[in-house]
Amino acid sequence: MEEKFKPTFYVTTPIYYVNDVPHIGHAYTTIIADALARYQRLSGKKVYFLTGTDEHGQKIEKAAAEKGLKPKELADRVVVRFKELWQKLNISYDYFIRTTEEFHERGVQKIFQQLLAKGDIYKGTYQGWYCVSEENFLPEDVPLEAEGYKICPDCGRKALLLEEESYFFRLSAYQQPLLDFYAAHPRFVRPQSRMNEVVSFVRQGLKDLSITRTSVRWGIPVPGDPKHTIYVWFDALHNYVTGAGYGWNQELFQTFWPADVHLIGKDILRFHAIFWPAFLMAAGLPLPETVFGHGWWLKDETKMSKSRGNVLDPYLILEKVGADALRYFLLREVPIGLDGSFSHEGFVQRVNSDLANDLGNLVQRTLTMAFNYFGGQVPRPGEETGSDRELARSFFETRDRVFSLYDDYALSRALEEIWVFLNVTNKYLADNEPWKLAKKPESRERLARIIYQALCAIRGSSYLLYPVMPETAEKIWTLLGESCQPGEVLKSSLDFYGLAPGARLHQPRALFPRIDLAEFIGEMEKPWARAETAPKTEEKMEYISYEEFKKMDLRVAKVLAAERVPGTSKLLKLQIDLGSEKRQIIAGVAETYSPEELVGKEFIVIANLQPAVIRGIESQGMLLAAEVEGKAIIPFFDRELPPGTKVK
Ligand SMILES: [Zn+2]
Repeated sequence: MEEKFKPTFYVTTPIYYVNDVPHIGHAYTTIIADALARYQRLSGKKVYFLTGTDEHGQKIEKAAAEKGLKPKELADRVVVRFKELWQKLNISYDYFIRTTEEFHERGVQKIFQQLLAKGDIYKGTYQGWYCVSEENFLPEDVPLEAEGYKICPDCGRKALLLEEESYFFRLSAYQQPLLDFYAAHPRFVRPQSRMNEVVSFVRQGLKDLSITRTSVRWGIPVPGDPKHTIYVWFDALHNYVTGAGYGWNQELFQTFWPADVHLIGKDILRFHAIFWPAFLMAAGLPLPETVFGHGWWLKDETKMSKSRGNVLDPYLILEKVGADALRYFLLREVPIGLDGSFSHEGFVQRVNSDLANDLGNLVQRTLTMAFNYFGGQVPRPGEETGSDRELARSFFETRDRVFSLYDDYALSRALEEIWVFLNVTNKYLADNEPWKLAKKPESRERLARIIYQALCAIRGSSYLLYPVMPETAEKIWTLLGESCQPGEVLKSSLDFYGLAPGARLHQPRALFPRIDLAEFIGEMEKPWARAETAPKTEEKMEYISYEEFKKMDLRVAKVLAAERVPGTSKLLKLQIDLGSEKRQIIAGVAETYSPEELVGKEFIVIANLQPAVIRGIESQGMLLAAEVEGKAIIPFFDRELPPGTKVK
């Protein structure tokens, strides 16, 4: 890169909406951001990595009401789930912003007032299609039906054309300034194809943007006009400045703003590439360097969705293979601008061939030889030969290429280069056959050199891998007795010959056990997991007799205790009181109910259902629930009943 060295780096993920629990899409964006942050820290920069949650808006108000919660209470619960997942994935964020935090709300109000004063925000009338059932305006991009009205995409009902008072952002005034900015910064939006998309959209003309609602209560009030709340996008986008100190920590803000890169899914590109820079121009703030729109993960070439029952559960994969294998797979498989397809076969193949074989075996083999031949110390190397110099040269070239690929957000290509070098090292060992030299005392110096070279190659690779696979890098450092603070390893000083002869090594252990494909698929696609999410087919009614119905023993059960089944996102283990006895059941309701809220509740169970073993835990019965969009909704009673009461 030709630009001068910038000593800071600021990376963001979108703030995630709390009406959903974390899934693989959230994990993907956040892993990319983490790899970039770790790389920049490794290269000696001061890094600020911001992620968080978007907590306002009507959808959250409704989702909370359905669970009998306040919106903030719902948000508090979902935030815990995000933070748990980020911890499991080793996400090294510096700050987790929540849009309900006071400093954020004040910052948004301050900018709103400033723009109102200069005329970039004005009061007008919003006309839009309104769903009476949902009590909200439809998104602008819902198409008009042939009959001249719009249909609500959420409930399928006919919407009404309504007007309400609203504040508008004067987006139309920023059409030309935006086009000028894009022309001067052709790499503002990446990948390039998306930049072109944005430019042609803006060229078609921009309408002013309605940025407040009188019909939504759960939002930031407009200063001085509190019957209006600020619409979620104006609120949410400003997290990137408030989260970096705007309005409350001037030093932090001066240090890191403007952001180097906003990572986003391609679905929210327009908000980030058009609205956001226009808001910033209006507020007189510098614009971010890059908006990077990444692709989608498909499952076996189809879009993941709850109704298809093919949503990947990141917790299940993490439990089975650990964070680094998942991080590696997602970042290696496709360049971040393109769509990727996840298949269990592809995943297992990558773990076995790249991680268990190419990397794991190299480390295991080399360390084992260092123990067998040199007592677990870094050997004092004999003289260097041509093939040794060749290996070192190959490392330096790889290092420079990998760093410039990381600089360019080309994570997949960087990993490819590292793997080429690992295989160069594997070939170096195969060509030099140290195991044969070990049998000849006169070749001891040569043997020492070969093991030394291989250890250096492993050490060097570990630093290159660190941004994507921090846990693995740290394991390797432990094996090599390397004490590393990533920030201290300036990229210019990452040497090949960094190991001190005589230093103590540690006993190797397998970094990545091989995965058995059949077993893996079995665990990922448990029959009960499929049954829970399989699309319902409309079948012909099949009648059962009253005698058959009478065979079912339906009872009122009261929950005594509840806990999550570790490693699953859906399952709760419930201890229930059936009056005459206590039992344990496993229920797929964790996406709708927390363990705490079920304790003390009563519902209906089928008491004489044959017991089943689910995830190794016995389930003695089944509770009744409705399924709505993949989520279980339990029918509760309107009064308390004695546990064990018969239902018929
Ligand atoms: Zn509706």
